[in-house]
Amino acid sequence: MQNKLFIYNTLSRKKELFEPVNSPFVGMYVCGPTVYGDAHLGHARPAITFDLLFRYLKHLGYKVRYVRNITDVGHLVNDADSGEDKIQKKARLDQLEPMEVVQRYVNSFHNNMNQLNTLPPSIEPRASGHIIEQQQMVAQILKNGFAYEINGSVYFDIEKYNQKYNYGKLSGRVLEDLLNNTRALDGQEEKKNPFDFALWKKADPEHIMHWPSKWSEGYPGWHLECSVMSTKYLGDTFDIHGGGMDLVFPHHECEIAQSVAASGHDAVKYWVHNNMITINGQKMGKSLGNFITLNDLFSGENELLGKKFSPMAIRFFILQAHYRSTLDFSSDAIYAAEKGLHKLFAGIETLNKITVSEKSSVDVKSLEQKCKDALNDDLNSPILISHLFDGIKIINSIDKGKNTISKDDLVLLKKIYNVFVFDILGLNQETDCGSNDLLDKAVDAILNMRLDAKKRKDFELSDKIRDELFKIGLVIKDKKDGFEWEITRQ
Ligand code: ZN
Repeated sequence: MQNKLFIYNTLSRKKELFEPVNSPFVGMYVCGPTVYGDAHLGHARPAITFDLLFRYLKHLGYKVRYVRNITDVGHLVNDADSGEDKIQKKARLDQLEPMEVVQRYVNSFHNNMNQLNTLPPSIEPRASGHIIEQQQMVAQILKNGFAYEINGSVYFDIEKYNQKYNYGKLSGRVLEDLLNNTRALDGQEEKKNPFDFALWKKADPEHIMHWPSKWSEGYPGWHLECSVMSTKYLGDTFDIHGGGMDLVFPHHECEIAQSVAASGHDAVKYWVHNNMITINGQKMGKSLGNFITLNDLFSGENELLGKKFSPMAIRFFILQAHYRSTLDFSSDAIYAAEKGLHKLFAGIETLNKITVSEKSSVDVKSLEQKCKDALNDDLNSPILISHLFDGIKIINSIDKGKNTISKDDLVLLKKIYNVFVFDILGLNQETDCGSNDLLDKAVDAILNMRLDAKKRKDFELSDKIRDELFKIGLVIKDKKDGFEWEITRQ
């Protein structure tokens, strides 16, 4: 397959020509959420970044198998090898079964992903469904001499590994510095050194998520599931492993170490990472009080912003930045994105009504090439979007009679917007907030007419308006100074 897609590889620290191991098949694995709460803004960026990559690879003609896992066991509260399991903690607080917590937030995550118009992955494996395979990998790493068993737990032996291979090659960290700068956390004294990480942990008596193994009744370490499930579904060596930059260390570094220790080589050809989202210039975090869930964003129920934003405005906002740049979230920035999105869709509406001439005075072919070039340059969506806006200027100039377009060029121009806006950027007019605004305005207009009818004492008409709106699911509440209304069913 011919393509000129270059993608930045975190491992080599440069853009590389994308050449799949087994073209036209492409294997892509992305670390999914640990499902102990509703998805937040930080989940939206990797979801949309890798959705863009998924869509573009399919557009180029590749047959892509996209695997995104669900972490439902083994991710402990302090991201290290001690403390409670995140899912178990939530289950205890909410008095639920751990798997009830998992199901609740998997459902919620899927709902949010649909709202953002991300395509579902081809396979969505769960850690708890792959305990046997994880135990097999632990056994293999033990057999190869890169792990040790102590008190029923199995730890990865980083010093041993580093004698033969290079621990830290993805994140650029040097083991000696790590060792000098790390103190042992409580409960980790059994490790040979504090940077060894758990492959298998013996469950404490209060730990309720555990499985039998030859080492102990216990559970897998967090990093293990991704090494296991990626190679199970994508093969011994596969093309793309993605995730947020915050996962480079220790999660992905440990994944590489596990794969190399078990099979002698890294399973991944291209490591791809999206940068983080900050909020008003600050890192987002529950403890910082600036933590926004996607449900709050879409419903407007958040103190930080005070307005609801459509999923498409959020999607467009994220796509307006290159995935490797940091992105600062603020009301103003989203307003600007919302306005830009409306302008884009208004341009597409104009495109659908412009008339053709004998000859073109505009260059449509070069626009198509520029759009492709932008994506081929490490998925440069902001440059792509700026070309699409340049195209809107052309469309408006044709609409105003300042330029002309031939029939063939018009067909091509419509194709460009269909392909790049809807298929590849995955923007979707139906869930765009513009239509919600329009609904709000239409209902307000009808209800103002009803108020006028009431003032004229035309109660027959005012009741009829109320009853008709009720039939389609709108409930009207009369207030002293006007009215309120809400949708009771969709
Ligand atoms: Zn992972």
